[in-house]
Amino acid sequence: MRLDKYLSHLQFGSRKEVKALIRDKRVRVAGDLITDPGYNVLPGIAVEVNDAQADGPLEVDYLMNKPAGVITATEDPTQSTVLDLIRPHDYRPGLYPVGRLDKDTTGLLLLTTDGNLGHALLSPNRHIAKTYAATLAKTLTADMKQRLETGIDLKDFTTAPAQVVVLPDTDGKRIQITITEGKFHQVKRMLLAVDNEVTALTRIAMGPLSLPADLAAGEYRALTDDERTDLD
Ligand code: URA
Repeated sequence: MRLDKYLSHLQFGSRKEVKALIRDKRVRVAGDLITDPGYNVLPGIAVEVNDAQADGPLEVDYLMNKPAGVITATEDPTQSTVLDLIRPHDYRPGLYPVGRLDKDTTGLLLLTTDGNLGHALLSPNRHIAKTYAATLAKTLTADMKQRLETGIDLKDFTTAPAQVVVLPDTDGKRIQITITEGKFHQVKRMLLAVDNEVTALTRIAMGPLSLPADLAAGEYRALTDDERTDLD
């Protein structure tokens, strides 16, 4: 198959875009720099784009540290999405974010090509725990804490009891809160309901996954085999 057709097929871009990639000397075949888009690629030959293997696995799972300022969607006409942070050679058709974090929320976000995995993790019957580190506008009083731990009436639904840990030496303004549902703006709405306010929110864990301390905002990595097994 022609090299430009092959790369286009692997979702590296339109035929025009991959031709530019090839002419920019960013494609190697069997270790050799190839600048001819019509080069004939034989089956089984290693093709690299930007020094990474082009024909990696079709199914991928990534753990991202979502930065603030991008929306949790696959595409949007005006705003940057978490998919825009995926490097071209890591992209696979069908890759999507599992669940939603608000535009200003940071932290752990799973992206996968596995529709069943997303479905299972979001199922209300599974009660997957999600833990957030929240910075609050005011000190969390004992009464506020107790109300969060009992369940809050948010008009459209009543939350299940949350687990709340107030972090020491923060004047009661930094908490970790674990919830088992995933309703729109849930943590922010829960804190507003007890007359407080979230000023910064980061998801630090979801089910068996934790946000790796060395994963910078905007970065992502493939799930390890153990992490993937733990999700099943
Ligand atoms: N709760 C919120 O309020 N926002 C999020 O992004 C996630 C949970």
